[in-house]
Amino acid sequence: MIQNFDSLFDLMDAFPDEQSCIDHLRSIRWKDGEFCPYCVARGAHPGQRIYCFSDRKTFKCGDCRQRFSIKVGTIFEDTKLPLRKWFMAIWLITNHPKGIASVTLAKDLKITQKTAWFVLHRLRHAARTPSFNAPLKGETEADTTYVGGKEKNKHAKDRKGGTQGGAGKDVVLGIVEREGELRVMHVKDGKAATLQGEVRGNVAKGSTVMTDEDSAFKGLGRDYTHLAVNHSAGEYVRLGGFVHTNGIESVWALLKRQIVGIHHWVSSKHLQRYVDEMSWRFNRRDMKVTPRMNDLFACVEGRLRYQDLIA
Ligand SMILES: [Zn+2]
Repeated sequence: MIQNFDSLFDLMDAFPDEQSCIDHLRSIRWKDGEFCPYCVARGAHPGQRIYCFSDRKTFKCGDCRQRFSIKVGTIFEDTKLPLRKWFMAIWLITNHPKGIASVTLAKDLKITQKTAWFVLHRLRHAARTPSFNAPLKGETEADTTYVGGKEKNKHAKDRKGGTQGGAGKDVVLGIVEREGELRVMHVKDGKAATLQGEVRGNVAKGSTVMTDEDSAFKGLGRDYTHLAVNHSAGEYVRLGGFVHTNGIESVWALLKRQIVGIHHWVSSKHLQRYVDEMSWRFNRRDMKVTPRMNDLFACVEGRLRYQDLIA
């Protein structure tokens, strides 16, 4: 497996043509052995008698007799773009601290903005947090933020009822384990049942959860050591600096720089993908360039169709 593409320049050197990209994808996707994507998709025992044709890019399953490329069953399936352009896009989205706008990517890669938009959404799809992750534990912080435009600018049918301060905006809940993983989710509202349901689904019982004074968090004390700081009373830290929500609040600053600074505005429908992209980078901020990029390559399983995206 190629292990050195710390700069965009190195990347172009390491992957001079389509075949080198195919070989790299093979080495990551089939690191535990080759398998047939069609057998996997049917839920059958994954066909593992795989034959490689002499063109080095066509494979055939010995069980179901289907022919396929390494792209079948991944976010690259049916793409008309050369893999080198995908590799460049992945390098840019994983290494630029705030991500990249589709307009910018379109110019950088000489592709249309529509294609760039679709490429970035497929990469965000790959970056989504798998739901089978182990729960967060130890010292955690939970907080909400509101994202979105002004209610009066929306058409009546798009308006949402909401709580004070967040009327008509989208509610995003973040939970971070100190020195650990961040999870961010676009939730339907800021009510106690919704927020506490997510906290209970993501944080191990008995852990410490720190929040602000938002009454929606009241009741967490039944399952957790719940410590709150009262921001409206000017209190930001308690117990010698132990109780605060500074970790999750620095995440909100990051989120707003990306959404407002890079994308200017994102629709409610796609908001989860943007927060997935941000969380993905945040959770890998200490990784070196090449392993971070290979980490995204390891998540490319699963298609995302354009029809499903715009539906
Ligand atoms: Zn098969």
